[in-house]
Amino acid sequence: MSPEYVSELSDSIGNDPKVSASLDAEIQLALTYVGIMDRWPRHKQICICGHTLNSHRYNSVTSSYSCEPANFFCACIQEEPVYCASDSRWFKRSTHGVGKKHALVLGIASLERRGGTGEWLVAPQCQIPGCRGVEISIACVDLKGRIVPHTAERSLLLCKDHVKSLGGAI
Ligand SMILES: [Zn+2]
Ligand SMILES: [Zn+2]
Ligand SMILES: [Zn+2]
Repeated sequence: MSPEYVSELSDSIGNDPKVSASLDAEIQLALTYVGIMDRWPRHKQICICGHTLNSHRYNSVTSSYSCEPANFFCACIQEEPVYCASDSRWFKRSTHGVGKKHALVLGIASLERRGGTGEWLVAPQCQIPGCRGVEISIACVDLKGRIVPHTAERSLLLCKDHVKSLGGAI
């Protein structure tokens, strides 16, 4: 989404005083993160699966993405940038569990160990709609909505309670 589009959206919502009051904080947050994304090239943007956007391909037949890292399999069908890294070479890990065992967290840990830095593009919030849970972690979730200890179609930021209820072990 371009910054122009977001500001138009913000303007049009801003014309309705009832809506603007409730959405103002949320839009400000979105604008902040869109601004960050514009400063980083695509190959430094990391999908929630833990791999760069450059490793993702769009398939127009299935209308979905596939993530194709060079040396291993990733089942991701999203292209959802959540993090930008000063050096994306370290984002080449596989997921083998929740949180510290997820490819995104392993990538960030490798980056930081080598003195790299990065910025989050999303707020650390549980991605189950309406949830305000705490102790946010990340997990691979299969198409049945269950957490699995390996790569899966989706990755989600989840609160501690949702990690438990979707079958994940912390
Ligand atoms: Zn991905
Ligand atoms: Zn991936
Ligand atoms: Zn939650």
